[in-house]
Amino acid sequence: MAKKEFKAESKRLLEMMVNSIYSQKEIFLRELISNASDAIDKMYYKALTDDAVAFHQDDFYIRVQTDEEARTLTIEDTGIGMTEEELEQNLGTIAESGSLAFKKETETEDGRDIIGQFGVGFYSAFMVADRVVVETKSLDSDQAYRWESDGVEGYTITPGNKSETGTTITIYLKQDEEDNEDDFSQFLREQRLKTIIKKYSDFIRYPILLTVTKEEPAGDDSEETTTVQEEETVNSMVPIWRKDKSELTDEDYTNFYHEKHYGFDQPLKHIHINVDGTIRYSSILYIPETTPFDYYSKEFEKGLELYSSGVLIMEKCPDLLPDYFSFVKGMVDSEDLSLNISREILQQDRQLNMIAKNIKSKVKKELQNMLKKDRENYEKFYESFGRQLKFGVYNDFGQHKDDLKDLLLFYSSSEKKLVSLAEYVERMPEEQEYIYYASGESIERIDQLPQAELVKDKGYEMLYFTEEVDEFAIKMMREYEGKEFKSVSSGDLGLESEEEKKENEEAATEYKELFEKMKGQLDGKVKDVRLSSRLKSHPVCLTAEGEVTIEMEKILAQMPENQGVQADKVLEINHQHDVFASLKQAHENNDEATLQLYTNLLYNQARLIEGLSVEDPVAFTNDVCRIMK
Ligand code: ADP
Ligand code: MG
Repeated sequence: MAKKEFKAESKRLLEMMVNSIYSQKEIFLRELISNASDAIDKMYYKALTDDAVAFHQDDFYIRVQTDEEARTLTIEDTGIGMTEEELEQNLGTIAESGSLAFKKETETEDGRDIIGQFGVGFYSAFMVADRVVVETKSLDSDQAYRWESDGVEGYTITPGNKSETGTTITIYLKQDEEDNEDDFSQFLREQRLKTIIKKYSDFIRYPILLTVTKEEPAGDDSEETTTVQEEETVNSMVPIWRKDKSELTDEDYTNFYHEKHYGFDQPLKHIHINVDGTIRYSSILYIPETTPFDYYSKEFEKGLELYSSGVLIMEKCPDLLPDYFSFVKGMVDSEDLSLNISREILQQDRQLNMIAKNIKSKVKKELQNMLKKDRENYEKFYESFGRQLKFGVYNDFGQHKDDLKDLLLFYSSSEKKLVSLAEYVERMPEEQEYIYYASGESIERIDQLPQAELVKDKGYEMLYFTEEVDEFAIKMMREYEGKEFKSVSSGDLGLESEEEKKENEEAATEYKELFEKMKGQLDGKVKDVRLSSRLKSHPVCLTAEGEVTIEMEKILAQMPENQGVQADKVLEINHQHDVFASLKQAHENNDEATLQLYTNLLYNQARLIEGLSVEDPVAFTNDVCRIMK
């Protein structure tokens, strides 16, 4: 029988498992039991919805058995089984959920942390096994199959002789290391297995049967005992969401999160909901700590597991979560949902919509609570998912902005940390009209912006917009509690005193002709050349008039569907700066060539400061050489 090779990624993953020195090898059992439970879920669903499948409640179980002599551990389930193609697909290639995340992020040697962080699925069996045999018979096939592998070398699939639908996995445990004789043999001991199952798989809804050896009195008056073997159900079987919150510990919730592969991190918060009114449902929701690797990509699918009276009917129901809360993981169980409901009908289902609305407000409330009472964790959350909230403000024409505005945080110039808009407004001095912000690629970069100087100098707090979406989101909001947002780079900042205003107006009139000339020399590159009232120690800056700012222009230019949207740029000149004297001089001397040289230099400087490129680098360097000569 020719061996087939594993697909490249699978091989890499397997290698890591085989050589694993990860200390919590026990999680392999959680993985196999979880797979068994998933397979029974599918079978159970079939049985309930397909009249052709006869069943009895006792038919659904997972059985764990050991054979000390053979050094094997078997996990048997009465699930849906696998066809030959499915065996090939599912166990020859790792393509699903946890493993996919794994594949992209695993370039470390021993996999020590990674195994703990990620769900590792079926292959985790190779942490403890040097050979694994899977015997399976699919509900859809009369023929059983046997998959066998002793590691990275490959696997074989041959016809098998399993008679009942379901899957049995036999693990041939590795030999113990010389200095640790319990390394693998521990998985042959009943008590140890019992502990592991209780720890990770207690809430599995089907009985996990384990054969345990018991000592019983031999009878009559004798002190003797006999050994009997008895099969017992190890897990409590009550789904965690049916339990009372007071009975559950944080660890229970975290274990469930991992068992379900909702995420591989430690969730920041869990929300356990039991509603019993016009709508009835139970739900356990999690706010993860870290961003899934594909979160901000098209591949990411949001959704919650959906159960109807304890039966899983959909693995990822997207309609339960708004896009801006797509990071939420977890499940919903409701008795009001029909088992046979189709995806299309579900969307219009009134019950489901009510549940979704309810979930939305619970999540919002929880996040607001976290922001208020658990700032540290909220900031962790915000670091991972804040961007999504801002997209939420911007998307759908801003219709969710009121739900989200109080969840936003921005870095503040005066506090030197993230602040909410409410905190900003609360601190505003009475005479301050606007909420000031500056956009740029980083805090350091923004701090160097000439136009940011004056606002900070006047003692006003300024928010740093360093993410692409920031300015778009804020444009959608327009104001917060009646206070308008104002970019330090656009329009009138409202910072001048009456006196300064008058002085500036006079200067503007005085130099009108000079600015007109410069504008002409720039030949349509700017909409205007103007006397600046926002500059302090710098000679020039580039600002924008109208809706599109320079930052927005930069971002739009990177988009594939870019339509060449341009900001209306204004070159602002600081008439109190030393170089202004040179400009004036050239103008008074009617020295067109020199004025052109200065204008070009100042314009390009302003572009560079804004993070725009110089339009003609050769001409620019020639200009610099000319003034050096
Ligand atoms: P995941 O469970 O995240 O999909 P695994 O590596 O744990 O990834 O399992 C891979 C796939 O193999 C499963 O998706 C399932 O289709 C199949 N599988 C594993 N164990 C069983 C089983 N006991 N019964 C039926 N199918 C199984
Ligand atoms: Mg799995």
